[in-house]
Amino acid sequence: MACVSFPYDAPVSQTLFDRASLVTPGGVNSPVRAFRAVGGTPRFMVSGTGPYLTDADGREYVDLVCSWGPMILGHSHPEVIAAVQEAVARGTSFGTPGEGEVALAEEIVARIEPVEQVRLVSSGTEATMSAIRLARGFTGRAKVVKFAGCYHGHVDALLAAAGSGVATFGLPDTPGVTGAQAGDTIVLPYNDLEAVRTAFAAHPGEIACVITEASPGNMGVVPPLDGFNAGLKEICAANGALYISDEVMTGFRTSKAGWFGVDGVRPDLMTFGKVMGGGFPAAAFGGRADVMAHLAPVGPVYQAGTLSGNPVATAAGLAQLRLLDDAAYTKVDAVSAEIQALVSEAFTKEGVAHTVSAASNMFSVFFTDQPVRNYEDAKKQEAFRFTAFFHSMLAQGVYLPPSAFESWFVSTAHDTQAVERIAAALPAAARAASEATA
Ligand SMILES: *Cc1c(COP(=O)(O)O)cnc(C)c1O
Repeated sequence: MACVSFPYDAPVSQTLFDRASLVTPGGVNSPVRAFRAVGGTPRFMVSGTGPYLTDADGREYVDLVCSWGPMILGHSHPEVIAAVQEAVARGTSFGTPGEGEVALAEEIVARIEPVEQVRLVSSGTEATMSAIRLARGFTGRAKVVKFAGCYHGHVDALLAAAGSGVATFGLPDTPGVTGAQAGDTIVLPYNDLEAVRTAFAAHPGEIACVITEASPGNMGVVPPLDGFNAGLKEICAANGALYISDEVMTGFRTSKAGWFGVDGVRPDLMTFGKVMGGGFPAAAFGGRADVMAHLAPVGPVYQAGTLSGNPVATAAGLAQLRLLDDAAYTKVDAVSAEIQALVSEAFTKEGVAHTVSAASNMFSVFFTDQPVRNYEDAKKQEAFRFTAFFHSMLAQGVYLPPSAFESWFVSTAHDTQAVERIAAALPAAARAASEATA
């Protein structure tokens, strides 16, 4: 790791982190939060308003993580907060059906045309795990194709060559996943249709599904090449396998209808999370009605959840989705484009080789001038430059994802003032990146 000095300390966060580390492995409840890839003390946040976060030491940051995507309207949006307060006053969980979950399911089905039926769950991991179980139950086949660098949550079978936190830590795999669990997973290079054709030819009648991030954001942002998703769909259809598009990150983020709204390729099953929960644990999987009919209680494939369709979570998600009209996406896309341009300009001025890679309003920076089409390409970047860049931005009050392999996220709340603060921080941070050494 590059030798970077941490320009200021965060005594209250440090104290909290010390306390946390005694009672929780690594002091965090999700690994990337620990700052291991960039070093230093993770900031413990106490509040968020619009595009800003405030940490336990009282410092304010422009937030370019947005809770890893969900806060697309910014923090503490008054209408989302009001919906939550209204719901919570009626009780927090009933363990029965309720109208809120019907309304949220209707909203999803109305927005995303390939989703004829949907089942609500509580995390993206649960959504992909359930979709894969359903695909296996529906086809009677065992094998699953996934792509290196695509992350689908911490589902055992899908933790082979997953990006994100796993990419950050450079773990090729994880102990605790058995050979049997990973053995039915075929990992292929992203954006390589020939590899998919070869895998299907090698395993005739054995592949239940291909799961892919609709547009990957967990190895940094690496959009599908033209025709890649359509090609996957075609190969799956020709071989009796299901095409599962994981839109946990892109769903309701890259357009009103997620990445489906961008490329129009019709998946058999889709998964959602992040934005649809409005900052609460709500996620979903859905798709073809004939496939969904295989789920319990109508079909034999079991799937359940004590808190699935939780009334507070569904109220938050529904309130957020109802605010996400065309104008909202126009706004997020515009502010994202503006920040992308500023970032690129700052690096160019300092002569830092870089590529700003975007999928509508999701974007990330690769420290390379070579094209990045898959995880192998992404790993060739000079990630040490990110460490220096990250800490300079942090010191200047801009909160970036603490890893070079994560997407940056913006919101409708990122206004001129927030953009100006980012612009003011960029020159020094770009210089730090240019001066960094491996
Ligand atoms: C975040 C993410 C998941 C996992 O969702 P969790 O809610 O963290 O379990 C799955 N797939 C993709 C594409 C994601 O970005």
